[in-house]
Amino acid sequence: MIDHIHLIDTHFQGVPEAIASFCVPHEGGALLIETGPQTVVDAVTNRLDTIGLAPADVTDVLVTHIHLDHAGAAGWWAEQGATVHVHTVGARHLADPSTLWKSASRIYGTDMEALWGEMRPVPETQLNALDDGDTITVGDLTIEALDTPGHAYHHHTYLLEDIAFTGDVAGVRLPGSLHIAPPLAPPEIDLEAWRSSIERLRGRDLSYIAPTHFGLFSDARDHLDRLAARLDSVERFAEELMASDPTDDEIQEAVTEWMRTEAEQDGVSGPLWTRYETANPSWMGAAGLKRFWKKHRAEA
Ligand SMILES: [Zn+2]
Repeated sequence: MIDHIHLIDTHFQGVPEAIASFCVPHEGGALLIETGPQTVVDAVTNRLDTIGLAPADVTDVLVTHIHLDHAGAAGWWAEQGATVHVHTVGARHLADPSTLWKSASRIYGTDMEALWGEMRPVPETQLNALDDGDTITVGDLTIEALDTPGHAYHHHTYLLEDIAFTGDVAGVRLPGSLHIAPPLAPPEIDLEAWRSSIERLRGRDLSYIAPTHFGLFSDARDHLDRLAARLDSVERFAEELMASDPTDDEIQEAVTEWMRTEAEQDGVSGPLWTRYETANPSWMGAAGLKRFWKKHRAEA
């Protein structure tokens, strides 16, 4: 199966290997896992053209979750005729992206259009809401949706034989590196749920991990072990940091510094670090971690 997967580099913001889309041809066309944002539609369609596929050949689009870097162009693909498959909780936001767009605007401000272009609605008739364990049969392919919260509540991993398309739940790892950075974006990160999701993935006989940021890695077991260890260190770091009751600026500074140091310890620096920052900005990690910790503490 692995030989049938086309890894598409969307060249988001002109940066290579930051956001991926995956194309899997089947007997009646092709399916796409992750669309990237509207701003990368040309890059994706150009790449499909090189493998002899027109946009209308894409019968099905699967998105792991509704964040704009994963599902921003879902509406555009629906306009080309594709059925869009998404976690039940995310479905209404693809049907009417206005709330999603508004909440992303609070994070990205005036950069919204430059980064994400726009987000078009997916007609209800072309939306397929998936629950945990649901399978989709497309042509000769069968794909299972596995509920994997942690980065977001509404997050599926898609299993195709021994390949897991993990969206953001298996972290950010760029080609040529063993460094795994869990994307700690607000507003929904939940370290407990995240750990359970890793355990679920460990329970499957996986050979390959395909994180949207970025690629196809053949060391699934090791990857998940390293990811679990990384989450533990995130928690230890956050516990220590928050114990001193820091100001927002102090949190921002400490998290950014910590993420850079952790990456450096794994040999990530220079242009590779810039790519990690494009795929997973540390300022956003700081915001997400702060929000999680306040909520976590309030509940405790
Ligand atoms: Zn995300």
